[in-house]
Order: sequence, then structure tokens, then C-alpha cells
Amino acid sequence: MPKTIKKLAVLTSGGDSPGMNAAIRAVVRTCAYHSVECLGVYRGYEGLIDADFKQMDARSVKGIINKGGTILKSARSKSFRTKEGRKKAFENLVAEGVDGLVVIGGDGSFTGALIFNEEFGFPVMGIPGTIDNDIFGTSHTLGFDTALNTVVDAIDKIRDTASSHNRLFFVEVMGRDVGHIALNAGIAGGAEEILIPEEDLGLDRLVDSLNKSRQSGKSSSIVIVAEGDKIGKNIFELKDYVDENMEGYDVRVSVLGHMQRGGAPSCFDRVLASRMGVKAVETILEYKSNYMVGLLNGKMELTPLDKAIKGKTKINLELLRVSDIMST
Ligand code: ATP
Repeated sequence: MPKTIKKLAVLTSGGDSPGMNAAIRAVVRTCAYHSVECLGVYRGYEGLIDADFKQMDARSVKGIINKGGTILKSARSKSFRTKEGRKKAFENLVAEGVDGLVVIGGDGSFTGALIFNEEFGFPVMGIPGTIDNDIFGTSHTLGFDTALNTVVDAIDKIRDTASSHNRLFFVEVMGRDVGHIALNAGIAGGAEEILIPEEDLGLDRLVDSLNKSRQSGKSSSIVIVAEGDKIGKNIFELKDYVDENMEGYDVRVSVLGHMQRGGAPSCFDRVLASRMGVKAVETILEYKSNYMVGLLNGKMELTPLDKAIKGKTKINLELLRVSDIMST
């Protein structure tokens, strides 16, 4: 660790998420507040290797708290996975007089940061930015809340057309190997069934459940399917299965896709990003390294990066039960 920290760098890496700009703003302004210089790094680790830098001051981040995406751009860098690439990145940071690095990204980005720290002893701090909410050590990742609102808005619109035509809709949402988006947005959107990777409902139970819904007088149904669900069929195969095994349903498929990553961050994500940015910078200024900042029980807490990477998030079983009861 340097004796005094005079300059920090910040980058966004991996998949973008709403709230990343608000986090950049918070990092830059916290640096300014503590009279520390701040260097913005474009295109994640790729920009670190190419020395694609921009000096940032408090005014340079005006007007971005409400913008989706990331003004620093993001990238997946193959070169940073190599020792030579990371050495170049280290040399560039040293040449710029940077004393610590704040990485806004997912677990892959944190893995890169940890390896970088192990090799060069360079202080690193992580801010979890991903819509999937799949990072251990925080109840909410940046962008999760915004993505939920986007998905619920889409489900509401799909519901309008589904009920007008007595249709069954399968709606696929993001989340990779976890069902946090599907479960929360499914409950909020009044889905009849929610298929998540953590719980294999099974095709028979799905058909049973849809039949029961119909018998109970429902004229339309929405089934939320997490992209990583384990039912063994993709969303189009599910449609075919229901077409073949259930009578009287007009089945449609809607894959929401990348629109879930975009849009203006919610109030929750803006506040979260601001808190995380302050905590990340102030932690590194206390000469701490290799931590991720997170929200736990309403407070900003630190989790060692290796735990954040290795730990698994758990699905909220109470929500599963609520969802079952609500689809009665
Ligand atoms: P998302 O959750 O949106 O996918 P992520 O941060 O997990 O975000 P990744 O593509 O997995 O996204 O990682 C981002 C970048 O971090 C990679 O492109 C690479 O540059 C770096 N990185 C990931 N794993 C490693 C590793 N084992 N060694 C060095 N760098 C890595």
C-alpha cells in the first residue's frame, strides 16, 4: 500500500447495468470530496491495458445519475486474462501515479481484480454491478431493482394482450443461473407460474398448474421462465410441449432480452450506487484492499472479494411460497 493515496482509478467491466453511471459519479465525487484525484478508465480492463484514460473531476460526472449504461463503456478483455496484459495494465497505472482501483462489475471482473492484486499488490475494491443479483455479500446488486421494474412493466403490457385473447404467454427473463429476477418480477407481475433454476417444477406439474388455473376461471396465463431454468426445455420447446399436451390454449412466447439491462436507473439503484461509491472510496482510503462493498440488512458492509466470488446467493424460500399461494 502507498503511504498516502493521492489518486484512484475507476472502471466498469463485464455486462453493463443501470446504476453504473451513478456509481462512477459517486466514486469521482467522493474522491473530489477527499481531495484525491480520479482517473476514469474506458472499456474496462481493455482500457487499462491500452491506457485509455480520462482525468475526472466532480463536474465531469454531471447529468449522468439518471442515465443507463456506462459513460466509461464496458468490455470483456481477453488480454487481461494473460500475465502480459495485466503487467501492461499495472505499468500504465503506475505511470499515471494511480494508487488504487475501483472495479464496478460482476464476479468475473472481481476475479480479474483479485488476480491483479495478488500479482502486483495493487489495491483493489469492488462494486457489484449486474442485473442478475447473483453476487454473494449484498442483498442487491446495482441494476437489479431497475431490471425488476423493467420486467414488471413488460409483464403488465403482455398481460393486457394475453387477457384480450385468452392466451398463455411464456416470458423469458434474464438471470443466468439464478432466478432472482424471475421470482421477484413474477410475483409482482402476477404470474401463474415461475420457472427458476433453483427449483425444477417439472413439466407435469406445470401442465397441472395451468389446467388448475383455467378451471379456476382464469382466462389468460403468464409463465415467467428464468433463462437458466432446469425444466429441460427452452422457451420455444415449452410452447411446443403445451401446444401438444394441452387443449384450448393459444400459446405465445416473449423473450425480453437486453432491454432488461437498459433504461434509467430506479431511485433505489441511484441511492445504492451513491452509497456504494462513497463506501468503496472511503474504504480504499483507509488502506484496505480486496473487498466488495454491499448492502446487508440496510447497511453498507464489506465482503472479502474471494468470498464474494466463491459464495452463492440463495433464493428466498418465503418468496417461493408466496408465489405458490398467489397463483391459487
Ligand atoms: P457479468 O456478470 O455481467 O458477466 P462479469 O464481471 O462477471 O460481469 P466477465 O466477462 O466474467 O463479466 O468478466 C469481465 C472481465 O474480467 C473479463 O473480460 C476479463 O477481462 C476479466 N476476468 C474475468 N475472469 C478473469 C480471470 N480469471 N483472470 C483475469 N481476468 C479475468
